[in-house]
Amino acid sequence: MAVPVPGLGLLSYRVPDRDRPPPKGARVTVPLGQRTVLGCVVDPQATTPDLATLRDVVEVLDDEPFLPADVVDLALWVGEYYAAGAGDALAVAMPPSARRAEGGGFRTVTVATLAASQSSAIVGDTPRAGAAKQRAALEHLSKASAGLSLPVLRRLGIGGDVVRRLALRGLVTLSEQIHERDPFALQADGGSGHFSLAVTASPDRPLTTEQQAAFDLLRELADARQFRTALLHGVTGSGKTEIYLRLARYVLEQQRRVLLLVPEIALTPAVAGMFRLAFGERVAIQHSGLSEGERHDQWHRIRRGVVDVVIGTRSAVFAPVANLGLIIVDEEHESSYKQDETPRYHGRDVAVMRGRMTEALVLLGSATPSLESSVNADAGRYTRLRLTRRVLDRPLAAVRIVDMRAEMAQQGAEVALSQPLIEAIGLRRARGEQCLVLLNRRGFATVMFCRQCASSIECPHCSVTLTFHRAARRLRCHYCNYTTSIPRRCGECGGEFLEHSGVGTERLEEELRGHFPEARISRVDRDTVRRRGAIARVLAAVARGDVDILVGTQMIAKGHDFPAVTLVGVVSADVGLGLADFRAAERTFQLLTQVVGRAGRGEVSGEAIIQTLYPDHYSVRAAAAQDYATFFGREIEFRRAMEYPPSVGMINVVIKGKTLEGAMADALDLVTRVRQSGLAARVLGPAPAPVAKIKDEYRAQFFIKGGNRRRMREAIMGALEARPDLRRKTLVDVDPNSVT
Ligand code: ADP
Ligand code: ZN
Repeated sequence: MAVPVPGLGLLSYRVPDRDRPPPKGARVTVPLGQRTVLGCVVDPQATTPDLATLRDVVEVLDDEPFLPADVVDLALWVGEYYAAGAGDALAVAMPPSARRAEGGGFRTVTVATLAASQSSAIVGDTPRAGAAKQRAALEHLSKASAGLSLPVLRRLGIGGDVVRRLALRGLVTLSEQIHERDPFALQADGGSGHFSLAVTASPDRPLTTEQQAAFDLLRELADARQFRTALLHGVTGSGKTEIYLRLARYVLEQQRRVLLLVPEIALTPAVAGMFRLAFGERVAIQHSGLSEGERHDQWHRIRRGVVDVVIGTRSAVFAPVANLGLIIVDEEHESSYKQDETPRYHGRDVAVMRGRMTEALVLLGSATPSLESSVNADAGRYTRLRLTRRVLDRPLAAVRIVDMRAEMAQQGAEVALSQPLIEAIGLRRARGEQCLVLLNRRGFATVMFCRQCASSIECPHCSVTLTFHRAARRLRCHYCNYTTSIPRRCGECGGEFLEHSGVGTERLEEELRGHFPEARISRVDRDTVRRRGAIARVLAAVARGDVDILVGTQMIAKGHDFPAVTLVGVVSADVGLGLADFRAAERTFQLLTQVVGRAGRGEVSGEAIIQTLYPDHYSVRAAAAQDYATFFGREIEFRRAMEYPPSVGMINVVIKGKTLEGAMADALDLVTRVRQSGLAARVLGPAPAPVAKIKDEYRAQFFIKGGNRRRMREAIMGALEARPDLRRKTLVDVDPNSVT
């Protein structure tokens, strides 16, 4: 039995008064302390010598497995590998509304249909006088063979009382049906609009030679019906999506199902849209824009086997799909596959494990594979497939690197747009072509500081400076969302001259408007797209040609296919490089390669301009040349020399406390215990975390690095067992994405 309580392992309960125990995957409610909580049966046959001391299950909710057994196994693996409790891991595998004890089950809706014997005769027949509503209802129902639900009838102006009267007269049959909200149906009435981008079907165009070779090999791997992982490494615009589609169709033809993971659907609607177009009703799409109810419905459709293709973000890796033949992870290098709360799993790695457990083919796709996947391919664990050319041999964008040190020497330190970038935008504007300008930093200015004492304004709850948001006229913390009005005087010295520096997207947009007053400019960052569907609207406007210049954070760098964008400008390529993060160079390389890949995907060839303070950094140079091999060689050398993943396994442990001293002391105690466990691994730290305070909690941190993750995990879990008081204050992150 597993219960979703942080840090708790499996618990045993007795099932009274039943012929047979509830099956693995069934939900039960059980007593825990003073509460009754929802649990999931993991081992129905479990026996224990002290049966008499066990507490009884309160209620068995399912006679059939609610979670399929293989999903239970996958979740248990996640719980163990990522050092989370089995309960936490099973909770992510459950549909959202089933996590609460009172939730679960189907949501039903009352549907009215014409009574069978009446259906032909009724419409012309006039019911009693004053019953126009009833007549209208019958007329509507006569056209809807599957019936109409009460909410729909209500929208047509027909209330439930009218329908019930018809039912009493035997003219209408009422039934309870499972209510499904089709997220696509919502769009028709201007709902979330996530997939409003035009996607055109072109199923039968010939594959390029490279595509064909990759597809043939993948087909062979699929035919083997065994676990295998393939890495599709194809430059941007090389037609990876086309391969996903064909392979999915091939697997579906063999009566097996397909799971497609994408980093974030709202940002990359094209892939999902194309699958929907190709496979129609057989596709279920799970994304963050769906309401809890919509997700719940989809989960049950998948569970019932109505759906053959599931598309979703990382948590969809737990979708209850039976008979999986293919799992695709698009943009496998994306950091959003890693969950940053317990269980801290990596969707890609869990996908590979699911493929192993279900004998499915796993296909990882990227233009810039993660170092992890590349190393696995080099070692022969994954099959590497290369697409080195763009479809139709469209050239990759010509890239120019602008040294911002020189620009700053000429124009001052606050310059955002270099002369070459301004000129290039002007040129494209004159030709009526679109430009995309990227800056990975939102807000107007990144710091406000006092000219008298030079102190900057920090968040009172976090050890970071506040960002100046001009439109909102406020300062905001990007860690805890604390906001405050702009002070008149310096809080430290009372000085009256507060200045701001550092450029964010808000200021960039303003500068662009200054240079190009007649251009239609749109901005996409977390400040402008808070509202549901906002991103899709802007992206659709860009696709229609209603936007001349699109400004934004990395949100605009992803897999969009805008044929009319011919110029991409990167305002400061090095935002990430200053961070004390071992993946900084990899992230920079990936982001630059992706964004450069946005230029010139149509008829007109593209151009990219990268502004940077580090024009010689290998991640910038390799991205400009779209040279993955050179980047990989340099980066893997760095990781080996510094003992960072993937050359070692790593666990990041963060201990929180009310004071930094307290957190450091607790961390030191855990470090000592881990060292004393005789673990053959390096333990580094403790030290204050790079951001030492977040939301009023101080954070100390240490790392364990070594070859044997299981031993490393056991050592830290053992230390925590000896200090149960620290369990709630400690974050254990296996295979961390970042260490900041
Ligand atoms: P990637 O995902 O590798 O960046 P896409 O799958 O988006 O590349 O393909 C780039 C463009 O090429 C898309 O517009 C796509 O429709 C088109 N395309 C893909 N395969 C072919 C093909 N065999 N023939 C013609 N056009 C293709
Ligand atoms: Zn804060």
